[in-house]
Amino acid sequence: MSKLFIFLGPPGAGKGTQASQISKNFNLAHISTGEMLREHVTNQTELGKKAKNLLDEGLLVPDDLVINMLVERLSHSDCKNGAILDGFPRTLGQAKSLQNISENFPINKVFVFEADNEELIKRILLRGEVSGRSDDTEESIKVRLDVYNSDTAPLVNYYQEQQLVTTINAIGEIEDIYNAIALHFNNL
Ligand code: ADP
Repeated sequence: MSKLFIFLGPPGAGKGTQASQISKNFNLAHISTGEMLREHVTNQTELGKKAKNLLDEGLLVPDDLVINMLVERLSHSDCKNGAILDGFPRTLGQAKSLQNISENFPINKVFVFEADNEELIKRILLRGEVSGRSDDTEESIKVRLDVYNSDTAPLVNYYQEQQLVTTINAIGEIEDIYNAIALHFNNL
């Protein structure tokens, strides 16, 4: 059975960095909905055209579009051992849709990354200088943090009620944070 691991946390918390390492070392697919959406924008697909302005402003792409994209992605063969979801679900609607497909893809654990706003803003601005990501601007970061608090943070409770949450302190050395997460995968 393909297990799902959800990496949940505010922008800049390091979900992508950790997901990329963990997925390699534990033979899981790394699914970043943000990365997939940016590819759609680059390739100027229909979805990319709809998503571009929302991404730049730091707003969420509508649930149905993201859910369809994710479900299609889960059908790829690299997901047969399981996948890390990085940046999905981001709304209660997305979480509920995920529940509907959970017969084939049960959620094994939800890692909640915790970091304070000051650290997050610092990291994203630094990343923006290197990556040139068009949404790593001060204005967009503020919106993304607000959207996280209003739409995504309630998912922590939602998954806590299902006893799926493991909290990760996302401040510190990348390697130390990696080890804290990997511990849970070693024990599976
Ligand atoms: P970050 O977590 O640093 O904001 P991501 O790459 O995860 O970076 O997401 C970038 C943008 O992609 C988001 O601000 C949003 O516009 C869009 N996006 C990514 N995942 C989702 C999702 N699950 N639902 C809606 N929009 C999403």
